[in-house]
Amino acid sequence: MEMMDSFRHKGMRQRLVQELIGKGIKDKHVLEAIGKVPRHLFLDSSFVSFAYQDKAFPIAAGQTISQPYTVGLQSQLLNVKQGDLILEVGTGSGYQAAVLIQMGVKLFSIERQKELYVRSNNLLKQIGYRGRFFLGDGYEGLPSFAPFDKIIVTAGAPFIPEKLLLQMKIGGIMVIPVGDKQQTMMRIKRLTEDDFEQEQVGQCAFVPMLKGTVN
Ligand code: SAH
Repeated sequence: MEMMDSFRHKGMRQRLVQELIGKGIKDKHVLEAIGKVPRHLFLDSSFVSFAYQDKAFPIAAGQTISQPYTVGLQSQLLNVKQGDLILEVGTGSGYQAAVLIQMGVKLFSIERQKELYVRSNNLLKQIGYRGRFFLGDGYEGLPSFAPFDKIIVTAGAPFIPEKLLLQMKIGGIMVIPVGDKQQTMMRIKRLTEDDFEQEQVGQCAFVPMLKGTVN
């Protein structure tokens, strides 16, 4: 794979950032990270010219790399602080993971499909993004590394997994698309041990969050 990040790519990223600002992404740290992460390396080579359009694209194993706007929105909703311990469910291409790592968080990410887990883990290592990647079922979370400051789910969840709620710190935030064909983006805050506050952010469409792992 071509590991180059050229002047031309940087220019295309700056145009993408301007487009996301126009669509309502305001968080400076999120925009800065999207301006830095070489998204073209996360797509199959035949799609390189599409890397800086605000569109979702097919990756391996029938999955998609999230649309840049969606990555911007979910990252913004997480209210990311440097050093946050963040759990991502659905590593996929690794692009959302890279954006969060670029923002200075400690990232843990779970993927259920081995092919994607292997690819994204290798790519991120190669281009110098450090995180902890796991092949597993995101419905289980990562109990041995919990509790997390933030949890981001990047697949459409039929319901809010209780195990993930319980792996949030008090004061923590989870951003999760909930629903079947279409989802409602939800932001959940853990107020106390037992109290959670929910906010509905808008409609979106993700590939489904499925149980178990695929080898
Ligand atoms: N964050 C990714 C989005 C990939 S699409 C990116 O930036 O590219 C969603 C991913 O979630 C797919 O790779 C899919 O295999 C994965 N997924 C679906 N259900 C899952 C589960 N229960 N646990 C972990 N990953 C899951």
